[in-house]
Amino acid sequence: MVVVYRWMALILALMLGACASIPQAEPAKAPTKSALTILISLDGFRPDYLDRGDTPTLSALAADGARGAMRPSFPSLTYPNHYTLVTGKRPDHHGMVNNTLEDEAIPGVSFSMSNHDAVGDGRWWSQARPIWVSAEQQGVHAGVLFWPGSEAAIDGVRPSYWKVYDEKLAYADRVDAVLSWIDAKAPPLGLATLYFDATDTEGHHYGPDSPEVNAAAAKVDAAIGRLVEGLKARGLYATTNIVVVADHGMAPQPLSRLVDVATLVDPAKARFVSTGSIVGVRALPGFEAEVKAAMLKPHDHLTCWEKGKIPARYAYGTNPRVPPIVCLAERGWYFATASAIAKRWKEHPRDGGAHGYDPFDPAMRAVFVAHGPAFRSGVVLSVFDNVDVYPLLTRLIGVKGDKGDGSLGPVKAALR
Ligand SMILES: [Zn+2]
Repeated sequence: MVVVYRWMALILALMLGACASIPQAEPAKAPTKSALTILISLDGFRPDYLDRGDTPTLSALAADGARGAMRPSFPSLTYPNHYTLVTGKRPDHHGMVNNTLEDEAIPGVSFSMSNHDAVGDGRWWSQARPIWVSAEQQGVHAGVLFWPGSEAAIDGVRPSYWKVYDEKLAYADRVDAVLSWIDAKAPPLGLATLYFDATDTEGHHYGPDSPEVNAAAAKVDAAIGRLVEGLKARGLYATTNIVVVADHGMAPQPLSRLVDVATLVDPAKARFVSTGSIVGVRALPGFEAEVKAAMLKPHDHLTCWEKGKIPARYAYGTNPRVPPIVCLAERGWYFATASAIAKRWKEHPRDGGAHGYDPFDPAMRAVFVAHGPAFRSGVVLSVFDNVDVYPLLTRLIGVKGDKGDGSLGPVKAALR
């Protein structure tokens, strides 16, 4: 019904606009633009964690706003999906195709999350433009705390405020850093982001159904509580939109389901560009046919494709950075090097958790909570793709975004 009224209002406004002698009515427009939008990533936070009784602040934000579950993009890993959330593009289109990367145009470098120089090198990020770059280019200032890509100048642009990633920075200090950026107000912020890793870290160590994960959910909830109190103390709570997302979910990963990648193909003949739940393989020169045959034959608990033959629903395989052969593990299985398996047995000999599995598996779903003046109260969205977050964000902060792979449609029901 609301939609019908909006169309009528629009048609009326157009008719009035066409007739210059009649005073023009203001077209009905959703009051979605606020002074400030805060985007918060809770790494590996599944939607069902909200219903475990450990997250009073987040659950209250969800009840008074909108909540939902997002399907991550393939592969359901941290860097690919964080960059999807802020670019609206699938990993195949934004270039952050895995947590570990190679690129013939950047020879001799292996990109990984722990390679500090690579993380800060804009060449790895420049296949897409993150929202904070568009914002800064359009005069909307951004403060970005620990979002993948924020340590690099992209298109020669950095956010107004950012910090080098420091996993040891206490959660209260992360919140206070963002509040201090908001306080500085010169330039005033239109977008701020925050990142908390605890649910992912504990999920890997103990599995998604562990008391440790519940404690981690409580810990990130307390940090968001501190943020809410900080906004209230500044008189900003009512005008701030808060969007809480995760990059992926988490599935149990038993110790008994670790497999040595050397059982797939001779490591003397191939390089594993990635291991884990997504195995990426590049043959060494001269061994292409042999490696291809070894990898594409049937394996237990692992499905492999040539990069051009990956099922279309995964939207993956055209980017030059995708290795020639890509394999997806069955949920709960994990393909690692012998040394990584030995390390796990030595340092953490117990069942844990993992992600990177099929994005269509409900265990890989990521939390979504949105609260603020732009959002309706008590909305529960149907499952949607995480590429749809970006058009929501560009609308909230009032900048023109780049064309992405998603649309506002699936999240529109959450908006006033
Ligand atoms: Zn993650």
